Amino acid sequence: MISTSQAEKHENPDRKAASTPVSTPSSIYVHIPFCTHKCQFCDFAAFAGLSHMEDEYTNVLCSELAKRLDLATLKQKDKPQIETIFFGGGTPGLLSLANLQRIMESLRALVDFDENCEISVETTPHAITEEKARAWKSMGINRVSIGIESLLNDELTAIGRDHSVEQALAGIEIAGESGIPLLSIDFMYGLPTQTLDSFGATLDRAIALSRRWPAIGHISSYCLELSVNSALKSRFPDGHPSYPSEDTQVAMYHLLVEKLAAADFEQYEVSNFARSGHQCRHNLTYWQNRSYFAFGVGAHRYVDGVRSSNSRSFNKYLRDPFADDVHEVIDSATEAKEALMLGLRMMAGVDLTALLRDFGLDLLQTRAKELQMFEKEGLVQLSDGKLRLTQSGVPISNSIIATLL
Ligand code: SF4
Repeated sequence: MISTSQAEKHENPDRKAASTPVSTPSSIYVHIPFCTHKCQFCDFAAFAGLSHMEDEYTNVLCSELAKRLDLATLKQKDKPQIETIFFGGGTPGLLSLANLQRIMESLRALVDFDENCEISVETTPHAITEEKARAWKSMGINRVSIGIESLLNDELTAIGRDHSVEQALAGIEIAGESGIPLLSIDFMYGLPTQTLDSFGATLDRAIALSRRWPAIGHISSYCLELSVNSALKSRFPDGHPSYPSEDTQVAMYHLLVEKLAAADFEQYEVSNFARSGHQCRHNLTYWQNRSYFAFGVGAHRYVDGVRSSNSRSFNKYLRDPFADDVHEVIDSATEAKEALMLGLRMMAGVDLTALLRDFGLDLLQTRAKELQMFEKEGLVQLSDGKLRLTQSGVPISNSIIATLL
């Protein structure tokens, strides 16, 4: 890993010798770190109590957008053509409309938006108001991702969330009525106090909501993973009996897949499900290992064969938004591993012919024995030159991937 503090070092001379073409980013991630409250399970660059800094943050963010995107325009001798923009957080839904408008105007001046550009905003349900939803739509935001987590108040309290089920339903109703074309609702499983039945009840209610509000064409559901110093561990330390057992978590995953499939939500990634045509194009950029721009505190980008990230410290970022925390040149071998690791998250699987063609990685040759064993155990499937995890393989995907790497 190579560290640097200069954004200009994103130019990576090693790429000239790489065997694969460097794709031009057509996706933009913008990090908005403000939250009303820091959830106890959250490990994102997200801060409560800093909303008075919003104007200053927006100023710095717009200067970062201008410098990095002007540099990209200079290099490729044309403005970047952008197909997806994702405002993630934090809670971008909390951002004042004036500041969101400023960021959108900066972007429109610096890049060309594809006519079908997917523009997503993440939000908590209680940050949604009728005025905001109307304004988001008129700004061109066509996808809103709402963090619901659970539709049971006891579970929301257990994970230290500051919204209630009633607020979740009210937020969904406003978004559903707003005419925003696509809504995604997010849930978690493996939560303290959660049972297989209670997770099933949340899923049933989520499916009923998607019938009531047809714009809900996308559902995500992640298993709770806590960082070492997670605040939630002070109330629920590792091994606490309130956590569902590992077997129950696996059963929750299978219940998720089964219930959503029955409601026409096709699983296209381990944790993501969509009705026809409603896959998140922005997130596909990550899983398909394509490059993307990213801006804001703690944001990670992949440009010109280099993965780099901004500081996670709010103050450091404000002082110097171009001081990279991480700067890692991705060589061909690493890119091949990333393509395999990310690709196996998608239900479409990894194209082994492309891995060989693009990176010289011949898994059928180098991992023949392991692949045969996994296939025999029903954990992976090999067909049409593609390698896919089966539903039995998904819960142990980390160890499968580690063996193959
Ligand atoms: S609302 Fe989301 S980003 Fe903010 S603290 Fe909670 S989990 Fe983290």
